[in-house]
This record gives sequence, C-alpha cells and structure tokens, in this order.
Amino acid sequence: MSRVYNFSAGPSMMPEEVMRLAQSEFMDFRGLGSSIIEISHRSKDYVAVAREAEQDLRDLLKVPDNYRVLFMQGGGRGQFAAVPMNLLTGKGKADYITTGNWSEDAWDEAQRYGDVRALKADYVDEDGFVSVRKITDLRDDVDYVYYCSNETVGGVELPEPPEVGNRILVADVSSNFLSRPMDVSRFGLLFAGAQKNVAPAGLTIVIVRDDLVGHAMKCCPSIFDYKILASKESMFNTPPTFCWYMAGLVFKWLKEKGGLEEMEKINIQKADYLYSFLESCPFYRIRVAPAFRSRMNVPFFLRDESLNDRFLAEAKEAGLTSLKGHRVLGGMRASIYNAMPLEGVKALVAFMEKFAASVK
Ligand SMILES: *Cc1c(COP(=O)(O)O)cnc(C)c1O
Repeated sequence: MSRVYNFSAGPSMMPEEVMRLAQSEFMDFRGLGSSIIEISHRSKDYVAVAREAEQDLRDLLKVPDNYRVLFMQGGGRGQFAAVPMNLLTGKGKADYITTGNWSEDAWDEAQRYGDVRALKADYVDEDGFVSVRKITDLRDDVDYVYYCSNETVGGVELPEPPEVGNRILVADVSSNFLSRPMDVSRFGLLFAGAQKNVAPAGLTIVIVRDDLVGHAMKCCPSIFDYKILASKESMFNTPPTFCWYMAGLVFKWLKEKGGLEEMEKINIQKADYLYSFLESCPFYRIRVAPAFRSRMNVPFFLRDESLNDRFLAEAKEAGLTSLKGHRVLGGMRASIYNAMPLEGVKALVAFMEKFAASVK
C-alpha cells in the first residue's frame, strides 16, 4: 500500500495513526463483535465514546464550563443559517466582517434572517498583497459580530480575533480549528465543520456560551436549535456516529502529540518552510500579505500559468496530490492541516524547486 501526501482542502488528510487504529477496530469494536458504525447511538458503549470525545476536546481547548459543546450536522453552511436563527433574536442586527469567500457566503445566508451588514475588511495593499484592515465601524446595537478566522479559499488567516468591545463575537473556525490554542472565552460561539482538520465530513462542532442558548427563532428547525441539541446532549436525532468517533480518535491523537501548543509549533514550522521557499523562488507567486498568511491553506501561483497542468501532473507522479487551487482563485493551493507531516511539506518544496529548475 502506498499513501501520497494529499494537500486537499477538505475532506483532507487524516493522521495515519488514527486511520490505522480505526481500521484495526473497525470490524470488532473493542470486543463488542460489532463495528462502531453498527451500534445504537444510545447504547452505553457508544455514549461512552461520545462523552469521552467531548471531554478530550474540552481538555484540548480548555473550554470553560459555561460553554456547551454541540456535535451537529449540516456542515459549516448549516451554521451559516443556524447562527442567525439562534442569535439574531435580540435587536435583529448583526455585523459581518468579511475577509473572503466563506465570510461573504455566511453574510449572504444570514441576510434572510435580519438586518445584517457586511464590513469588507480584505483589500489589496500597496505591494499587491491581500491584506486585512482593522474594523472600527461596528454598530453598537448588534446581536453579534461575525468573522471567519481562516479563509480556506483565499488563504487569509487572522492571527488574533478582531476587537469587538463587549459585543458578542461569533467565529467560523472550520479550517484552523485545533491548529493552535484558542481562547474560547473571547467568543460567544465558535463553529467548525469537521472535514478540514478534525474528522471525515458529516460533523459540525459548535461551542456556544450558555447564555446564548435558548433564544432561537420560531422558524428555526429543531435540529438547528442549540437549546434542543444541548438538552439532548447532541442526540436529538441520530448523530453521525462514525464521524464523532473519528473526531474522538483525533482528539486523543492531539493530546498524545502534546496538545495544541505543540501542534501550533509544528504548524508554524510547516508554514514557514513553505512560505519562505515561495518567497525565495521567483518562479512562484504568493497572494497574501505576510501578517495574514494562513498556516493551514497556502494558495500560490506559477508565474507562467500555462504550466499549471504540467505542474499538477508531475506533482501527482511525485506522490503530491490535490494541489489544484479553488475554482474561484485558480492557481494552486496546498492545505497543510495538522495531519500533514513536515516531511510532506518538505517533499512538496523539493518537488517545486525541481519543477522550477526543469523549466528555466
Ligand atoms: C469548508 C468551509 C465551510 C463550509 O463547510 P461545509 O461543511 O461544506 O458546509 C465554511 N467555512 C469555512 C471556513 C470552510 O473552510
């Protein structure tokens, strides 16, 4: 069996140790004689798996006790609707800081539910790089301020949450969740689709402060009502049991690796290695200003875009896959989530160096 280095933005690479463990216990889950995917979500064996996953996540992120952790379905886009349906019920107003495709789409969806304003924060600076301005024109009477911590398509990551005073901050952390420590207490709500950095597709993790639970609009479907989900411990309907179990294995793996501080160190190392190569080699072009370069998703372009197909074909032959950029940006994108080892990034850089030399 040969595995490639897979730079997919999501669904994406999973840690090899986790895949092997899941494979080894797939047919007979810890002596049950059944697979984890064959048993009831209400059985004591499954509930134990689910609770342990939640506890491990709480430990990793140091989630304060006054926050609920919800395991939901519907993906990131489900939350684009669930967030306003649950939170846009005080003043009916929210400000959305937009920095790229995902925050723009979230704003677009939220408009169905109230007076929702987009504050465009990304712009092209004097050096031609995408940069992010500080937002100073937030409204005072909003139910929440929304932003995306890492724009997966554009490769724009905010190193710190925006300053919002005492307004409630909501963040889409789908693509940098668990890549670094995060101070949960700065947020009213965080959500992440699992398929980027946590688990197979199908699970969405929502971390929400207690006082924000219980205010959903009448029109909010029960499966999106945080209060119902919280009161049923995320088992109001059948949860994606396999994804939840896989997420639990990833949480254990992260703990074994030394937790999020350690993960952050490795992620910095990986990103620095790739960006410093890209900066040093004029054959390639970077899009984003240094302060906002994502550690997880690295879009880059060949100066001569007519070589794109050849680049992708030769990369694939070298065991480096899914490097094609998102359709709205073109070019290339290397997603280097937690599961991508430093060796994978080194292999990519070695290939890119060789490719550039072969063309010149
Ligand atoms: C992938 C992604 C989404 C959408 O997630 P789905 O689960 O496909 O709905 C939303 N936000 C960000 C930042 C993403 O990377």
